[in-house]
Amino acid sequence: MADAQSMTPFAAEAISALGYIKPGCEHLVSRLLILCVENHPKAVATSFRKHGSQITKAEKKALGIRANAFMSYDAVDMLTPRGLASPLEALETTLLRAVFSHFRAVKLATPIPAKHAEIRYDPPFKECGACWPLNKQRVDIAAATPFPLVGCFREACPLTYSVYIDYIGELVEQERGRR
Ligand SMILES: [Zn+2]
Repeated sequence: MADAQSMTPFAAEAISALGYIKPGCEHLVSRLLILCVENHPKAVATSFRKHGSQITKAEKKALGIRANAFMSYDAVDMLTPRGLASPLEALETTLLRAVFSHFRAVKLATPIPAKHAEIRYDPPFKECGACWPLNKQRVDIAAATPFPLVGCFREACPLTYSVYIDYIGELVEQERGRR
Protein backbone atom coordinates (compact mmCIF):
# COMPACT_ATOMS: atom_id res chain seq x y z
CA MET A 1 0.00 0.00 0.00
CA ALA A 2 1.41 3.37 -1.04
CA ASP A 3 1.83 6.05 1.59
CA ALA A 4 2.15 9.81 1.17
CA GLN A 5 5.87 9.70 1.95
CA SER A 6 6.64 7.22 -0.82
CA MET A 7 4.61 9.39 -3.21
CA THR A 8 6.44 12.63 -2.35
CA PRO A 9 9.30 12.32 -4.90
CA PHE A 10 6.79 11.77 -7.71
CA ALA A 11 4.63 14.70 -6.57
CA ALA A 12 7.70 16.93 -6.25
CA GLU A 13 8.97 16.03 -9.74
CA ALA A 14 5.58 16.70 -11.36
CA ILE A 15 5.09 20.00 -9.49
CA SER A 16 8.55 21.19 -10.46
CA ALA A 17 8.52 19.95 -14.08
CA LEU A 18 5.06 21.24 -15.01
CA GLY A 19 4.92 24.40 -12.90
CA TYR A 20 1.13 24.34 -12.49
CA ILE A 21 1.10 23.81 -8.71
CA LYS A 22 2.92 25.96 -6.17
CA PRO A 23 6.06 24.51 -4.58
CA GLY A 24 5.13 23.69 -0.99
CA CYS A 25 2.06 21.67 -2.04
CA GLU A 26 4.05 18.41 -2.30
CA HIS A 27 2.46 16.83 0.77
CA LEU A 28 -1.10 17.59 -0.33
CA VAL A 29 -0.41 16.34 -3.86
CA SER A 30 1.19 13.18 -2.39
CA ARG A 31 -1.94 12.49 -0.38
CA LEU A 32 -4.12 12.96 -3.47
CA LEU A 33 -1.77 10.66 -5.39
CA ILE A 34 -2.61 7.76 -3.10
CA LEU A 35 -6.20 8.09 -4.31
CA CYS A 36 -4.97 8.06 -7.93
CA VAL A 37 -3.68 4.49 -7.60
CA GLU A 38 -7.27 3.29 -7.85
CA ASN A 39 -9.10 6.32 -9.27
CA HIS A 40 -8.39 8.35 -12.40
CA PRO A 41 -6.60 11.62 -11.61
CA LYS A 42 -9.44 13.45 -13.38
CA ALA A 43 -11.93 12.11 -10.80
CA VAL A 44 -9.58 12.84 -7.90
CA ALA A 45 -8.84 16.39 -9.09
CA THR A 46 -12.53 17.12 -9.74
CA SER A 47 -13.50 15.82 -6.33
CA PHE A 48 -10.80 17.99 -4.75
CA ARG A 49 -12.10 21.09 -6.58
CA LYS A 50 -15.63 20.22 -5.45
CA HIS A 51 -14.63 20.03 -1.80
CA GLY A 52 -14.78 23.13 0.39
CA SER A 53 -15.94 26.70 -0.09
CA GLN A 54 -16.51 27.52 -3.78
CA ILE A 55 -15.35 30.69 -5.51
CA THR A 56 -18.04 33.07 -6.82
CA LYS A 57 -19.47 33.09 -10.34
CA ALA A 58 -17.63 36.36 -11.03
CA GLU A 59 -14.35 34.79 -9.90
CA LYS A 60 -15.01 31.79 -12.15
CA LYS A 61 -15.63 34.14 -15.06
CA ALA A 62 -12.36 35.94 -14.35
CA LEU A 63 -10.58 32.58 -14.40
CA GLY A 64 -12.24 31.73 -17.69
CA ILE A 65 -14.06 28.66 -16.39
CA ARG A 66 -17.73 27.80 -16.84
CA ALA A 67 -20.17 28.85 -14.12
CA ASN A 68 -21.12 25.27 -13.21
CA ALA A 69 -17.51 24.02 -12.89
CA PHE A 70 -16.36 23.14 -9.39
CA MET A 71 -13.60 25.35 -8.00
CA SER A 72 -12.82 25.86 -4.34
CA TYR A 73 -10.69 28.60 -2.85
CA ASP A 74 -8.26 25.89 -1.67
CA ALA A 75 -7.95 24.55 -5.22
CA VAL A 76 -7.26 28.05 -6.62
CA ASP A 77 -4.75 28.79 -3.86
CA MET A 78 -2.46 25.94 -4.88
CA LEU A 79 -2.14 27.10 -8.51
CA THR A 80 0.79 29.07 -9.94
CA PRO A 81 0.13 31.74 -12.62
CA ARG A 82 0.78 29.00 -15.18
CA GLY A 83 -1.74 26.76 -13.40
CA LEU A 84 -4.28 29.59 -13.30
CA ALA A 85 -4.13 29.68 -17.10
CA SER A 86 -5.70 26.19 -17.16
CA PRO A 87 -7.31 25.91 -13.73
CA LEU A 88 -9.45 22.86 -14.48
CA GLU A 89 -6.56 20.75 -15.83
CA ALA A 90 -3.59 21.94 -13.75
CA LEU A 91 -4.00 19.55 -10.82
CA GLU A 92 -5.21 16.64 -12.95
CA THR A 93 -2.21 16.83 -15.28
CA THR A 94 0.19 17.09 -12.32
CA LEU A 95 -1.39 14.03 -10.67
CA LEU A 96 -1.32 12.11 -13.94
CA ARG A 97 2.39 12.77 -14.50
CA ALA A 98 3.18 11.78 -10.91
CA VAL A 99 1.05 8.63 -10.83
CA PHE A 100 2.72 7.32 -14.01
CA SER A 101 6.07 7.72 -12.20
CA HIS A 102 4.61 5.82 -9.24
CA PHE A 103 3.43 3.00 -11.53
CA ARG A 104 6.90 2.77 -13.12
CA ALA A 105 8.47 2.62 -9.65
CA VAL A 106 6.17 -0.26 -8.74
CA LYS A 107 7.19 -2.13 -11.91
CA LEU A 108 10.89 -1.59 -11.23
CA ALA A 109 10.48 -2.87 -7.66
CA THR A 110 8.62 -6.02 -8.70
CA PRO A 111 10.84 -9.09 -8.52
CA ILE A 112 11.38 -10.68 -11.93
CA PRO A 113 9.37 -13.90 -11.71
CA ALA A 114 11.50 -16.30 -13.78
CA LYS A 115 15.05 -16.95 -14.83
CA HIS A 116 14.17 -16.43 -18.50
CA ALA A 117 12.54 -13.07 -17.92
CA GLU A 118 13.48 -9.44 -18.24
CA ILE A 119 11.95 -5.99 -17.95
CA ARG A 120 11.47 -4.09 -21.20
CA TYR A 121 10.45 -0.55 -22.10
CA ASP A 122 6.82 -0.40 -23.13
CA PRO A 123 6.02 3.06 -24.57
CA PRO A 124 2.41 3.38 -25.78
CA PHE A 125 2.88 6.21 -28.29
CA LYS A 126 4.93 6.34 -31.48
CA GLU A 127 4.97 10.16 -31.33
CA CYS A 128 7.12 10.03 -28.19
CA GLY A 129 10.53 10.86 -29.65
CA ALA A 130 12.38 10.00 -26.45
CA CYS A 131 10.41 6.91 -25.43
CA TRP A 132 9.45 5.11 -28.65
CA PRO A 133 13.04 4.32 -29.80
CA LEU A 134 13.37 2.28 -26.59
CA ASN A 135 10.33 0.15 -27.45
CA LYS A 136 10.84 -3.46 -26.28
CA GLN A 137 14.46 -2.82 -25.31
CA ARG A 138 15.73 -4.41 -22.14
CA VAL A 139 15.71 -2.15 -19.08
CA ASP A 140 18.82 -2.07 -16.94
CA ILE A 141 17.03 -2.16 -13.59
CA ALA A 142 19.99 -0.71 -11.71
CA ALA A 143 20.09 2.35 -13.97
CA ALA A 144 16.36 2.68 -14.70
CA THR A 145 14.35 5.62 -13.42
CA PRO A 146 10.69 5.77 -12.44
CA PHE A 147 10.63 9.43 -13.49
CA PRO A 148 9.70 10.62 -17.00
CA LEU A 149 12.52 10.11 -19.49
CA VAL A 150 14.69 13.08 -20.40
CA GLY A 151 13.57 14.44 -23.77
CA CYS A 152 9.99 13.20 -23.51
CA PHE A 153 7.77 16.11 -24.55
CA ARG A 154 4.59 14.81 -22.92
CA GLU A 155 3.28 16.47 -19.78
CA ALA A 156 2.23 13.03 -18.56
CA CYS A 157 3.80 10.11 -20.41
CA PRO A 158 2.30 6.69 -19.77
CA LEU A 159 5.57 4.93 -20.65
CA THR A 160 5.68 1.74 -18.65
CA TYR A 161 7.99 -1.18 -17.98
CA SER A 162 6.71 -4.66 -18.71
CA VAL A 163 7.95 -8.09 -17.78
CA TYR A 164 8.75 -10.31 -20.77
CA ILE A 165 9.17 -13.99 -20.17
CA ASP A 166 11.02 -16.14 -22.65
CA TYR A 167 8.76 -19.20 -22.30
CA ILE A 168 10.53 -21.12 -25.06
CA GLY A 169 13.95 -20.59 -23.45
CA GLU A 170 12.50 -21.76 -20.15
CA LEU A 171 10.94 -24.84 -21.76
CA VAL A 172 14.15 -25.75 -23.58
CA GLU A 173 16.08 -25.55 -20.33
CA GLN A 174 13.52 -27.74 -18.55
CA GLU A 175 13.72 -30.31 -21.34
CA ARG A 176 17.50 -30.36 -21.18
CA GLY A 177 17.35 -30.80 -17.41
CA ARG A 178 15.15 -33.83 -17.86
CA ARG A 179 17.61 -35.71 -20.05
ZN1 LIG B 1 7.23 9.70 -23.54
